Amino acid sequence: MNKTLKIFLGLLSFSLIGFAQAEVDLVRNGKPQADIVIAEAPPRAAKLAAIELQEYIFKISGAKLPVVIAPGKDIPAHIYVGKSAYTDKLKITDEGLKYGAFRMVSGGDYLVLIGHDKDYVPPEFAPRNSKDVERWDERTGDKWVNPVTGWQGRYSSAAGINDYDERGSLNAVYEFLRNLSVRWYMSGDLGEVVPEKKTIAIAPLDKTVRPDFPYRDLGNYSPAFWYGTRDAILYRLRIGLDPSPACVSDDWPHGLINVHGRKETKEAHPEYYALYDGKRAIGVSGAGYPCLSSTGLFQSAVNYARAVFDIYPDKPTVGMMPQDAYISLCQCELCKGKDTPGRGWDGVMSDYVWDFVNRVAIEVYKTHPDRKIVNASYGSYVLPPDKVDKFSPNVMVVVPMARDPATREKLLKIRKEFAEKVAPGNMISGGHYLHSRTNIVTAGMPVYFPHLIAEDLHALKGLSQGEFIELSQGYGESIGDMHAPIFNHLNVYVTARYYWDADQDIDALLGEYYEKFYGPAAKEMKVFIEYSEANWPLMKAKPEPIDKAFELLEKARRVAGDTVYGKRIDLMIDFVQPMKYLREKLAKGRKGVPQAFAAERKSTEIKMDGSLDEPFWKDVPAYELKDLVTGKPPVSKTTFQVVWGDDRSIIFGIRCEDADMKGLKITTTRNEDANIFNGDVVELQIETPAHAYYQIVLNAAGALIDLDRKTGIDSNWSSEAKLAAYSGDTFWSVEIRIPASDWQEGGLDPLKKINGKKPEAGAPWYFNVNRTRQRGKEVECSAFSPTGEMNFHVPLKFGELIVK
Ligand SMILES: [Zn+2]
Repeated sequence: MNKTLKIFLGLLSFSLIGFAQAEVDLVRNGKPQADIVIAEAPPRAAKLAAIELQEYIFKISGAKLPVVIAPGKDIPAHIYVGKSAYTDKLKITDEGLKYGAFRMVSGGDYLVLIGHDKDYVPPEFAPRNSKDVERWDERTGDKWVNPVTGWQGRYSSAAGINDYDERGSLNAVYEFLRNLSVRWYMSGDLGEVVPEKKTIAIAPLDKTVRPDFPYRDLGNYSPAFWYGTRDAILYRLRIGLDPSPACVSDDWPHGLINVHGRKETKEAHPEYYALYDGKRAIGVSGAGYPCLSSTGLFQSAVNYARAVFDIYPDKPTVGMMPQDAYISLCQCELCKGKDTPGRGWDGVMSDYVWDFVNRVAIEVYKTHPDRKIVNASYGSYVLPPDKVDKFSPNVMVVVPMARDPATREKLLKIRKEFAEKVAPGNMISGGHYLHSRTNIVTAGMPVYFPHLIAEDLHALKGLSQGEFIELSQGYGESIGDMHAPIFNHLNVYVTARYYWDADQDIDALLGEYYEKFYGPAAKEMKVFIEYSEANWPLMKAKPEPIDKAFELLEKARRVAGDTVYGKRIDLMIDFVQPMKYLREKLAKGRKGVPQAFAAERKSTEIKMDGSLDEPFWKDVPAYELKDLVTGKPPVSKTTFQVVWGDDRSIIFGIRCEDADMKGLKITTTRNEDANIFNGDVVELQIETPAHAYYQIVLNAAGALIDLDRKTGIDSNWSSEAKLAAYSGDTFWSVEIRIPASDWQEGGLDPLKKINGKKPEAGAPWYFNVNRTRQRGKEVECSAFSPTGEMNFHVPLKFGELIVK
């Protein structure tokens, strides 16, 4: 080495030492140089923050920093976690740090990690027992359900924290550890990445971090916090999730049932409840279904919201969303004509429900302008109302998240329309990540959608306060704790990190994940995950993408070798196994399904009267339905015949034997009324080579609903069917003629008629004829082609239809 270079190097190392001396080490060469200082009686979250910091510094460096309530005299450096007399002295406070925001500040010999921490205490009248309910009733002077119930499942003894605890300092500790390159990708030891460092210095730092979304309620299929394992609960905290009750109260899902759900209300006010089939829906789904035209119910809802806001001055919102599965309009005189069947199922109750919510909000706004009334775009009121141009400024809307490629465009449009009606910021989004749940179709499916999460949250920033995402969290070992954690962990991780920074680069975040989590197999896992992200919807329908997914995963496994990375991939291989069952079913296809033959007739020869005794039906083969599940003969016999008409229509004649015609359950006489499902019906499921598939539901009153089932339930499609029903003494029967069209007809309209050519050998249609007969609690379901389960919607079991 020459002299000049030696001098240069000497200077360089001198300057490095000089710079290092300006910093203070927390750990040096594996030896502790600092203590962790907390308040004498810290909130739970601050205490947990100190314990987590101690544990991870130890994992990183092998040094265990003591947790103390006063800084040690002979200790070179101090980490102040949470507010204490010492942070007060430094004038570093938690002021203005809401919803888990935090500060990280370093000085000469100290580091402060601070946010707002507060133990959650259930408020007065929170119902623990019947005495509390009595006191609540006395206080309100009415019979409402106390909405403050969500706290019950939110304490975790395993982690020593309540999900409602404010925990800014804990977030600060986790961010500090992330800056040291610690990563939590999945719950449990196998899910974390911890670097080794023998020396940890205090770097110059003065940073305040605020989340982009205050409301971060992901994963809590409530109540779940209390039975999650320590690993699962800590994982959620480490990635920064928080249901922030100061932003949105947890009573919004189906919150209206708090107004009418009590037994006393049902007895005193039957008129609050919807009228179906001459009876008030008092007991349905527990709380009953409301009549939203009832002025008494309306006044009670207003009074309830005002009382709740008066009693709980810190409660930001009250929920006014109706009971689940609220899909049919009340049949009372006042409600008549208030639904909008022309808007399809997504909007049939939109005007009806949103108008009610808005009217309640207008009243409450007069007395409590700073609080919000919440309802969700959901069920039969997914679409925004036509009738309400702008919502009252205190209406908060839960809009759908748009992360499923099949429905994304439609939901984005709905969201945009809601955004134009609500006051700025009065939005949250909701949805679920339950795709890979133990579900007959998607079990074990690698459902990834990180890019859609990133795009969606980026778009929602500034519009939405945050999210509620259902993600069931069960019992069991750490990796079984979060729903489908093997795949969901990436969706959950990306979502949680975007709650804090919705502008980050998704590919950088994913690139880091592949590198850190899969090491030598990073490239192969990137290929597997990107393939799955692009192709998981196809895995529901074809064996090839499933084969490809297995192949890619196994390749990654070979590259990973006998390492921690290999173990992570082993978990995935284990998790995808149920897909083999689906693959087998798909590969087998429709082998063994029954066949039916349609006769050809002149369409003009049918007399559309519902009875099947005219010559038109003579010599047309008849087929019998079997029990839907067992395939045995059902108690009530059903036969059908099918004809291909010369005007290109498919005509069914169906005869339902019924020994109890007086008990026939007809729940609607109108078309497109979802009430039809509550009664006796026959259903046709029809799939053509051009379209899979259509569903037509009809009853003995000649009412029908027709749905396109291609991407869910779309009621905008119209079969344009002609239907006639006939009732005899011991049977009822129908004749239904459905026009079919194809491109040769010109101007094919996807919203009208069956899309398909005449079914012939080589290009058959697939179909099922189903019947549901209901008498009280007894329900009998039968089918031309039994599906083997209590489900009509199993297309692979549809029988074959050929004109012969
Ligand atoms: Zn009504």
